[in-house]
Amino acid sequence: MRIPQLNRLLVAGTATAALGGGLVAAIPATATAAPAAPAEAQAAPKFQLPFACGQKWQLNTWAHTPALDMVKEPSQHGTEGAALLAPASGIVVSSYWHDNAGNVVQIRHGGRHYTTYLHMKYRSVSKGTWIARGAKIGAVGKTGPTANKHPHLHYEQGYDKNNNGSVTWGYGGAERVAASFNGKKYTGRGKEWDNVKSANKCAPKKHYVSLKATGTAYVSPTSKKSAGRLNKGRNYVFCVASGRSFSYRGKSKYWLYTELDAGLKTGWVSAAYLGKGGGRPKDAVGRVIPFC
Ligand SMILES: [Zn+2]
Repeated sequence: MRIPQLNRLLVAGTATAALGGGLVAAIPATATAAPAAPAEAQAAPKFQLPFACGQKWQLNTWAHTPALDMVKEPSQHGTEGAALLAPASGIVVSSYWHDNAGNVVQIRHGGRHYTTYLHMKYRSVSKGTWIARGAKIGAVGKTGPTANKHPHLHYEQGYDKNNNGSVTWGYGGAERVAASFNGKKYTGRGKEWDNVKSANKCAPKKHYVSLKATGTAYVSPTSKKSAGRLNKGRNYVFCVASGRSFSYRGKSKYWLYTELDAGLKTGWVSAAYLGKGGGRPKDAVGRVIPFC
């Protein structure tokens, strides 16, 4: 996408709430999950933290590992009311009020994998709804007596071990399993992780380049099927891939993945339009653009 001038990224900050004491764990009581057809075992999705891209949170297992309690960094500011986002796509199997745990949502993510959220300030999804990763499911709160009036998210990842179409949560021996976010596991008794950054629904990074001419875009780096065009001048691209050799003034086998000015929404434009020869394409400040 050609850009007339450099966009500036605005980051909003919040500063509210005072520090509380230590969180108390322990969520008693079993809960009934919605009955569902037993599912086949399959690999867990790549879960992301259930918060907006770039937010930093502190994760604690206390004595209730593998469950996690989460508060926002720095200093828990903005924990209460922070938007809760689905960590992966799935179907909402529970959304209800629980006398001990307050507002509870549970999502089935395919296979036998589930996530469960307790003490929510409010719920914005209902049972049976399919949601994409990053969709808002509610907000962090302190509902239910086991939240001890302290805003935090109690989070569990579950695996339906007995394959009865639901998972139990909230007590030792429940079908909860070690949580992982963005491929990293967070588990073990009495553990704490600070400033864990959410990569949930982060927009792809943009690399700014300058095109020497308006370029034809293709549907893939190896295809000759046109996808539209990218206008001459300053543009952003997301990443590069190797493909067929293409000549403009010079030759390049590298292709830039970008949003287009005409035609399809996205497509591939030859790096030959950068007029820099055949090496790995670099952005406007000389940094090599990463592979897709
Ligand atoms: Zn907890």
